[in-house]
Amino acid sequence: MDAILVVNAGSSSIKFQIFGMEGGAPRRLIKGQLDGIGTRPRLSAESDKSSLIERTYASDEIADVPAAIATVASWLRETQQLTLLAVGHRVVHGGPKYDRPVVLDQAVAANLEQYVSLAPLHQPNNLAPIRTLFKSRPELLQVACFDTAFHHGHSAVADHYAIPERFYAEGVRRYGFHGLSYEYVAQRLREVAPAVAAGRVIVAHLGSGASMCALANGRSVESTMGFTALDGIPMGTRPGQIDAGVLLYLLTEKGMTPTAVQDLLYRESGLKGLSGISNDMRDLQSSSDPRARLAVDYFVYRVGLNAGMLTAALGGLDAFVFTAGIGENSPTIRARIAEKLAWLGVVLDPAANTERKSLISRPESRVVLLVVPTDEELMIAQHTLALLTKEPARKVAGERLAT
Ligand code: ADP
Repeated sequence: MDAILVVNAGSSSIKFQIFGMEGGAPRRLIKGQLDGIGTRPRLSAESDKSSLIERTYASDEIADVPAAIATVASWLRETQQLTLLAVGHRVVHGGPKYDRPVVLDQAVAANLEQYVSLAPLHQPNNLAPIRTLFKSRPELLQVACFDTAFHHGHSAVADHYAIPERFYAEGVRRYGFHGLSYEYVAQRLREVAPAVAAGRVIVAHLGSGASMCALANGRSVESTMGFTALDGIPMGTRPGQIDAGVLLYLLTEKGMTPTAVQDLLYRESGLKGLSGISNDMRDLQSSSDPRARLAVDYFVYRVGLNAGMLTAALGGLDAFVFTAGIGENSPTIRARIAEKLAWLGVVLDPAANTERKSLISRPESRVVLLVVPTDEELMIAQHTLALLTKEPARKVAGERLAT
């Protein structure tokens, strides 16, 4: 079957999905990951029916991302009857240049290398499998889909920091992230609630990474995230908004190295830092420890505060949408956030909320509350397919290669 591979590569794991082409639309066939790269490599994959593989490797067998992508590729080749037409990659940073997905070639990849300094923890890992596939499958169409691209149209007041303009020129801007998730949710809204989609909407992507986006008629106008994915609301291990003075204090008064501060901000803060217990919302909700309660209260409070900010950016609010791990799965957190939004005329329907309905507000609510599961990988598959269709010469090359 003709297929598209979607790759989301991190520092120690590669998540991948295979989409088959059915009637011109991508349909998910396989979902898998190779994690523990360099430490305890483990390949697992499943179809919608069953587990396809669970296998561990010695650490030196899969020591880096190129070895991991080679292992995934050979497992796919040996066990699945697929004709790979293209690969879609999640790339966190498109910098100031890319406002949409792009077909990768050496020049584009070189351009994306420039943004490594803007996202040092993510960009190099995202680019590694692209380089590997350039070498091993040069004919294969590869597409980069960016977390920043969907926010590209932000106004000057939204994407600036109040620091000297030369920094803006060199790329120090409020980019916003989770763009593939917001783009998918905006697309789903047009299908399931077109009137809502045309209005003023806040989408809250509440997962282990968390942010919120203001949509006006389906377009992003403001985001809680900025130059990096650290800003905005608290996350599993990242703090969200923090006074830059705290960082100066840590560097100058506490003598912390930049690497130690980076580690603190990306791995030790947020729900984990506040609670001292866990970065997982489920653990905190089931704990009776007052520090766990504080972490959950802080999360809900900050989502509420930021909702006020985004409502101001939109000049009012027609709908509030919950998505990602916490947003899709925790009725309690949704209810507590809805309570914080009562001043906007939000009235939750408690039964619909606990029954996992999509519409969870009462008819009299001035703001519609919705739960819309996100699907960043499907968004990447759709973008990749769209660019594949525009590149007939490549498609022929892909087919020839596979036969
Ligand atoms: P990411 O893709 O950013 O890794 P997810 O969107 O999968 O994250 O969200 C993961 C988080 O969702 C988990 O850390 C957990 O805190 C939260 N989560 C998942 N299910 C529930 C639930 N039933 N109740 C509360 N939180 C949940």
